[in-house]
Amino acid sequence: MSQSVEEQKTLSVPPYLCAQFVNQLIIQITGGGEPIMKVMKFGGTSVGRPERMHHIVSLVTRQEEPTIVVLSALSGTTNALVEIGENIARGDRDAARKTIEKLEAHYQQFISELVTKPASVDKAKAVVAEHFEFLNIILKISFSEALSKDILAQGELLSTRLFCVYLEEQGVGHALLPALEFMSIDAYDEPQIGSIKVKLSQLLQQRKEVKLFVTQGYICRNSRGEVDNLKRGGSDYSASLIAAALNASVCEIWTDIDGMHNNDPRVVKKTVPVEQLSFDEAAELAYFGAKILHPASIWPAQQYKVPVRLLNTMQPEAKGTLIAEKADGVGVKAVAAKDNIIAIRIKSSRMLLAYGFLRKIFEVFEKYRTPIDMITTSEVAVSITIDNPQYLKEILKELEPFGSTEVDHNQTIISVVGNEIAQTSDIIKKLFGSIMNIPVRMVSYGGSPHNISLLISAEHKTQILQQLNKGMFGLE
Ligand code: ASP
Ligand code: MG
Repeated sequence: MSQSVEEQKTLSVPPYLCAQFVNQLIIQITGGGEPIMKVMKFGGTSVGRPERMHHIVSLVTRQEEPTIVVLSALSGTTNALVEIGENIARGDRDAARKTIEKLEAHYQQFISELVTKPASVDKAKAVVAEHFEFLNIILKISFSEALSKDILAQGELLSTRLFCVYLEEQGVGHALLPALEFMSIDAYDEPQIGSIKVKLSQLLQQRKEVKLFVTQGYICRNSRGEVDNLKRGGSDYSASLIAAALNASVCEIWTDIDGMHNNDPRVVKKTVPVEQLSFDEAAELAYFGAKILHPASIWPAQQYKVPVRLLNTMQPEAKGTLIAEKADGVGVKAVAAKDNIIAIRIKSSRMLLAYGFLRKIFEVFEKYRTPIDMITTSEVAVSITIDNPQYLKEILKELEPFGSTEVDHNQTIISVVGNEIAQTSDIIKKLFGSIMNIPVRMVSYGGSPHNISLLISAEHKTQILQQLNKGMFGLE
């Protein structure tokens, strides 16, 4: 990146700001009247074994509406590709070669169970050969950042092409929509929703007779036209962007868990799925630790009013979680925890009765493109949390003139989310009543009616989640 941090800051425009304008433009270009589509996104574990891929064909062919299927890479693939890229970058080509060989063997085994007809077997073999030949060529050329993105893209390219080979073998009519032809990000890594909408509409117009489309999640082109991606876990984001771009009837995110749960199943014994969430509630949970949905995937669906459903591939009849503009249900719906938080306290008597103090502090974080999660203030001090330590040293240096700073590492944000919870005195009583024995470093209350956030030391995380599970939900 050649731009300075300062330039980037002043030029970036949140993509959702242009939503309405783009909608108008599309109606003018396409004349509107496109069929209502449905988006179904399947994660890595849902396509990670041949029998699972077989199974999702039965799910996607049940649909009445025209459908766009968005696929992740087979589980484990992107991790392996990251490892290959890192080894090549480090100059350890032998290690990279070994990982490539192991991955190729995995795909050979996968296709041997995926398809049976000789013509399909040949096609699947050709797909695998093509992508692994590419990886083996990369081994021989000099490494660059752009090349590493090309390596990462192989996972989704492989999964979608193999899925199409299987669809063909099953005689299911479909078309592959190459994500690299419509999904794009700008120079600040923000998706270009306007251009995505135009290109996608044009591609669909050309294939009006097709009812089932397959496309890659995660991958896109950047402002230089190179292959890039929407960051790890970004297939959800792709699905939401596609759903938004097409004003889809629904964006279904199929994973291996039956929706967003009320607590972290890795930490507490008993959790239950939350039936309904508003976008605002879901955004808090996705950001504050519920791993099931990529946090960035909320805004496109919310902005374009597309409901999102989180569903379980292994249990397709289960209700899962519906995320929509308005969600029923009152009270606390879920708690989530976000680890690796850093708290910074800035203390200064100059803050007393001063105005403009907070702005100056915020500007430091803005300059280093470091988002602030929680903030609490007193008359002479302000506490702020961040989760990205990349520019911590620089930030602390620039905060020096404002007063003394104290930094606490290894903090965890506990976010309690629900409908109007901050207004319900009973809830507050119950919440604090159930965690009285745990020291709390910060409380953020009233920022939104749906959320109360607590900052605690990471060592108390398990204990607090368990106590909240009991205190708020009556679960062990
Ligand atoms: N395959 C990518 C990853 O593992 C994208 C995704 O699955 O969402 O991060
Ligand atoms: Mg995911």
